[in-house]
Amino acid sequence: MSEKPQHPHGKAENFMKFSNDNKVIVDEGPLKKMFEHPEVKSRKIVAFSIIGAYRKGKSFFLDYCLRFLYGHYKSINYPDNPLSNPNDWMGGEDEALLGFSWRSVPTTGEKLAIIVMDTQGLFDNETSPMDNSRIFALGTLISSIQVLNLSGVVQEDQLQYLQFATEFAKFATADSQGTSGKPFQNLLFLIRDWANPDEYDFGLTGGENYMNVFLKIKSDQKEELRSVRQFIKSSFEDLSCFLLPHPGMIVAGLKKTNPPYNGSWMRMEEDFKIEIEKLIKSLLKPEMLVIKKISDKDLIGSEFHEYFKQFLRLFQS
Ligand code: GDP
Repeated sequence: MSEKPQHPHGKAENFMKFSNDNKVIVDEGPLKKMFEHPEVKSRKIVAFSIIGAYRKGKSFFLDYCLRFLYGHYKSINYPDNPLSNPNDWMGGEDEALLGFSWRSVPTTGEKLAIIVMDTQGLFDNETSPMDNSRIFALGTLISSIQVLNLSGVVQEDQLQYLQFATEFAKFATADSQGTSGKPFQNLLFLIRDWANPDEYDFGLTGGENYMNVFLKIKSDQKEELRSVRQFIKSSFEDLSCFLLPHPGMIVAGLKKTNPPYNGSWMRMEEDFKIEIEKLIKSLLKPEMLVIKKISDKDLIGSEFHEYFKQFLRLFQS
């Protein structure tokens, strides 16, 4: 939901921000344009959202997600997409990243609309705790896949934050839980710069093992720590974790090059490149897409728009 550079395939729209006196400011125009688009309004929606602190590689990751989407699906912003090549979706070896956009449409099987959202601010010292939780809550409410972008390790205060924000979001959805009783869909903990592959291997399996440890409920734990974990487990239909290696000094901006690094994959460390590819495929391959549901019902674009407006009102009050 933050301002992004112009993308050759369309512009990322900024539709929500906080004013200085803590009010939510919504620009209805981009929302309407997106959800009421003829190719979107009657299609089921996949809502992919990433959230986390500033300067932790979210846009970088989203750019590669978009490359995958443009390589495999049809974009309504840019139907004659020159990047559309499923075998070469990571781009030319020195191809620069150009910013990201938010919609593309698969061409095979049932047609879905995929919405990609970047949300900035969580665990960010510049954003107030209240705004942080509202941002996270809104992202959780409107996404079918929420990626929580974290650096290094999962910290206890981040889990508490997650509970606080999720409680807020859960309150907003009190009447709309499905048969699972869990109001939210998929949450992926994406851990960047994972430094302990000997303990937990990179990728989803290592991530799952690590997650089982940090979400474990133990009898000797303080009640507060137990309830945070219980709460998170009871709120999401699917919890997963992915451990991503360090991308290397150049990508991390710790070693300067001339010309300056442009985001291309050529400069990534090999294991980072392999894992980021696996991660993106595990999220965005057609069979992996998760349709946004409310009360067990798949949502189409126009319904999603109504639902979105309802929640925005709640955040504005
Ligand atoms: P955002 O503010 O979270 O969207 O962060 P950006 O995507 O703009 O990335 C900030 C910086 O981190 C850039 O220099 C990226 O090249 C770099 N970066 C991208 N991915 C990673 C990562 O996994 N680890 C580290 N250490 N740096 C990364």
